[in-house]
Amino acid sequence: MKRMATPGVLRLLEELADGTVEEFSPVITEDGGVSYPDVERHLDACDGDSYSVLESLAHREILYREFQEKAYVCPECGADGMTYTTICAECGSQNTIEQELLEHVECGGLAPEKQFQAADGEYVCPECELAVRPEQTEMLRQHVCQTCGASAAGSVGALQCRECASVYEPREAIEWVLYSYGFEQHGRQWLTTQLSARQALAEMLADRGFAVDTDTVVGNDGRERPVHLYGEEELLGDRVVGAVHERPDHDAVERLHEIAAAVDARSVLVSTSGTITERAEEFAQTHSVGVVSYQQDGTLQREYTTATRTERPSSVFERLTSSVRRQLN
Ligand SMILES: [Zn+2]
Ligand SMILES: [Zn+2]
Ligand SMILES: [Zn+2]
Repeated sequence: MKRMATPGVLRLLEELADGTVEEFSPVITEDGGVSYPDVERHLDACDGDSYSVLESLAHREILYREFQEKAYVCPECGADGMTYTTICAECGSQNTIEQELLEHVECGGLAPEKQFQAADGEYVCPECELAVRPEQTEMLRQHVCQTCGASAAGSVGALQCRECASVYEPREAIEWVLYSYGFEQHGRQWLTTQLSARQALAEMLADRGFAVDTDTVVGNDGRERPVHLYGEEELLGDRVVGAVHERPDHDAVERLHEIAAAVDARSVLVSTSGTITERAEEFAQTHSVGVVSYQQDGTLQREYTTATRTERPSSVFERLTSSVRRQLN
């Protein structure tokens, strides 16, 4: 599961924050998958599918997840909204009729009462051809298949596609549990922090004479690489690619470095928690990726803590953020 807040992820959360989208709601696509159009249109190719992105944000408690419905998708044509039907367990035909049958208890012979009645008013079992008295028989309600003649006490539940009429046993149909997603209270604050940190980096570079673009793409080789921030300084030809993450991990630093190297730029990573993982720090140091932390007062500082080494400073920080959260709630 991807943990990174990519430019695409920030874009879709911004739309949720400003009320353009009330909730991210699912639709079943033509090929029978599930998609979130309000998420899909913001994502870049490298972000993965909308469902995984939302699940990851729900896992991090940035978004809540609310059950909507269960959808059954036809494996044949991909349409959803299959309807309930019953079928013959033997041949799968839907043409089964519930009717009363007489059973000759001794031999198990089963037939409509009419077939038991002999010409002289006596009862003869059509199966074993012995004369039977009424008390040797039992009346049963059975589902009789009009296609193959099989009968059974119960019918078998099945799902039929409204589009192509294919019939499937329920376990063969594709079951989707559909959720909608919206902001957790903490999520709104989290987004504000990410955007403020990006803005702080943009302003710091602008102060140093850079022309800065946030939420943009870089690359002059025909490949567009989405980045949180790109700055260019004309006079010396200095270029900077910036990224903002709550707690940068190795993947985040590596990706930033790759993009910066591809456009011959320096790279700066902002940690909004003031923490980065040990592996991320190692990579940053060996590849000259600058790391700064975003402070509660809105400034950027060179100090940060490394997750696995310093337990105490990060837990103090967690206490600070959770008390801030309580005040905001
Ligand atoms: Zn179908
Ligand atoms: Zn019989
Ligand atoms: Zn049948």
